[in-house]
Amino acid sequence: MPTPAISVADIDRVLGEDFRLLRFPAPLEARFEADTGAKRSRFLLVSGIITFGVFDLFLFRDRLQLGDIFQAALIYRLGIITPLALASFFVLWRNPRPWIREAMEAVLTVLIAAGLLYLVTASKSPLAVHAHYSMLLILVFPNIIQRVHFWYALTASVIVIAMYAFAIPHIHGMQQSIVFGAVLTLSTTTMLSLYANWKLEHDFRREYLVALRDKLRAQSLLSANETLSAISMRDPLTGLANRRRLEQFIVVLTNAAETATKPVVFMMIDIDHFKRFNDHYGHQAGDDCLKMVAHTIEQNLRTGSDLAVRLGGEEFLVVLPDSALFDGVQVAERIRADVERQAIGHGNSPTAPVVTVSIGVAVVRPDPRMDYADAILSADEALYVAKQRGRNRVWPPLAASNGDDRHPIRQAG
Ligand code: GH3
Ligand code: MG
Ligand code: MG
Repeated sequence: MPTPAISVADIDRVLGEDFRLLRFPAPLEARFEADTGAKRSRFLLVSGIITFGVFDLFLFRDRLQLGDIFQAALIYRLGIITPLALASFFVLWRNPRPWIREAMEAVLTVLIAAGLLYLVTASKSPLAVHAHYSMLLILVFPNIIQRVHFWYALTASVIVIAMYAFAIPHIHGMQQSIVFGAVLTLSTTTMLSLYANWKLEHDFRREYLVALRDKLRAQSLLSANETLSAISMRDPLTGLANRRRLEQFIVVLTNAAETATKPVVFMMIDIDHFKRFNDHYGHQAGDDCLKMVAHTIEQNLRTGSDLAVRLGGEEFLVVLPDSALFDGVQVAERIRADVERQAIGHGNSPTAPVVTVSIGVAVVRPDPRMDYADAILSADEALYVAKQRGRNRVWPPLAASNGDDRHPIRQAG
């Protein structure tokens, strides 16, 4: 069953209103049932199985007190009620809807009482008059032990008392002066058991709500914490990771270094003549340009495994785990070409009419003792070469990096 969304405020409201009719508003009732229904079915099943053993033991009592109609007692207990009880166990085992579950228990109560009243009124035994005491058990068990849902318990109790009041004057040998007292005793006991039934269900529902409220509060705190920690790992302008996230990522890389089979690529990306861009178009346009470049970088990475970081200003670092130098240079070349293709006008650049980036790439073999700062430094040195060689380029170039981890650029570590 899908669990509908419930808020802490909803629960507070219901707790304040006190649900004396033992029913929550629909979504909460559904959640209550989803959370408690299966356990309740199991409880009814187990308590039912135990009680039916006892119920059939009463055949010995029937033999002694209702001997003249013992055959009818056998049919009542073993032929009718026991098969019905077994059928109800099967239904309970399948965790039925709440109304089926509770109505089934109420109907069984009424049938058991009707059968017993039939036996005690049909018997001519002088002891039959003592057999109606078990009516107390028939009402107390569902009301207090099984805690049949209050409204079902109330309905069954009223029907049973009415049947009892109608039947007992007809018991063989019943002194009529006893009838009033017997009905009064059974009614009072039933009323007390119904009060206990209401109170138990009310308390159970209250405890459930308080526990659910605590759980929801804990969940919302947790998700607020997760959101906060995600925010603290991001660069607010571009949405890329920040240095803090990079540190975390490097720890993960170091921990995985023992089992890693392929190298890790580091890529330093820097926008060309960005100061001039800012001077010419203004800081706001500069910010927009940073966002576009950041977006282009992200578009070229594998989601989940790669990391793009804004180191600050117009400098970005990309980390590609499980990648060879050749893969890294290919990705760098795609990023470079995509930025150029975006054709963000740069009227103040001495090297190109549009915004371009220069990229330096370095590769390292993972090693638990390695300091990744060296690898980042290597990428920065490669970036310097790219700038020196005229900008809008990747260093090392694609042709020089094919399948070669021992490229002339300085190896980190
Ligand atoms: P080069 O091609 O050598 O990289 O030249 P450059 O002008 O890009 O390099 P430089 O480091 O001299 O200038 C970086 C400029 O980036 C300085 C500053 O105006 C700009 N900048 C840094 N952070 C931000 C930012 O958050 N927003 C904007 N709009 N500009 C920034
Ligand atoms: Mg720059
Ligand atoms: Mg720079």
